[in-house]
Amino acid sequence: MSRRSDFHTHTIYGDGKNTPKEMAQAAYTMGMTDFGISEHAWMPDFPDENGFGLTEEKLVRYTREMRELQEWYRGRMKVHFGIELDGMGPIQKADYTIGSTHMLRKSGRLIAVDDSEETLKEAVQQLWQGDWYAMAADYYKQEEKIVELTSCHIIGHFDLITKFNQGGRLFDESADAYREVALDAMKKLNRYGIPFEINTGAISRGYRKEPYPSSFLLKELRNMGGKIMINSDSHSISGLDQGWELARQLAADCGFSSRYILDGTGGYRRVEL
Ligand SMILES: [Zn+2]
Ligand SMILES: [Zn+2]
Repeated sequence: MSRRSDFHTHTIYGDGKNTPKEMAQAAYTMGMTDFGISEHAWMPDFPDENGFGLTEEKLVRYTREMRELQEWYRGRMKVHFGIELDGMGPIQKADYTIGSTHMLRKSGRLIAVDDSEETLKEAVQQLWQGDWYAMAADYYKQEEKIVELTSCHIIGHFDLITKFNQGGRLFDESADAYREVALDAMKKLNRYGIPFEINTGAISRGYRKEPYPSSFLLKELRNMGGKIMINSDSHSISGLDQGWELARQLAADCGFSSRYILDGTGGYRRVEL
């Protein structure tokens, strides 16, 4: 069995529960080869809050702490210093970035698609006249630009709008109106050759039973010759341990035999699944 890695995690510098030190210690104890923290970038007009994510002052402290951790684990586990950027937010610098679409702008409002089921339902009702497929079309139009907008190294939770759609209770993910816009965005993004993450975060937090992207989309990605990376999007130590085997099995079932990890110099290394 191949050893584990994780490049998508959060800490108390954002909305996580543990410090970078605690997260890295847990990852090391689990025997990870590579462990990355990818704190949320600053979102100045995050809805209903006075901003969200790393202020410049926090970024300075976060950077310093990550450099110390890299030194501490040198030769034992590769610690990677990252940041999760949103296509709507400012660009902040780290050694690697995850490009994610959490936010949509519609009729002058900024909507976080992963905030809560109630918020998303209300937004679809008000701004898209209840048409989930119209919202999906707008989401994927934004998502297809994520590499261009963020110059990311990893494509984060590609189909995040399915977060609250367990069992298809909000919309039908097998409908052509959904699949066409999702596949169109996937094809465009895949041209960059950047890995799409299999993200198990919504499983550990109880929202979903399957990782992002859906198995349909993963199979299509495989057919396109796309690359994958397995990440937990953990917000606590306990999240680190969940979903890895499930994600590996899903990747294998979808035809993948390898995954990618960051090599620490801006490139990737291909490893067995
Ligand atoms: Zn995210
Ligand atoms: Zn995240």
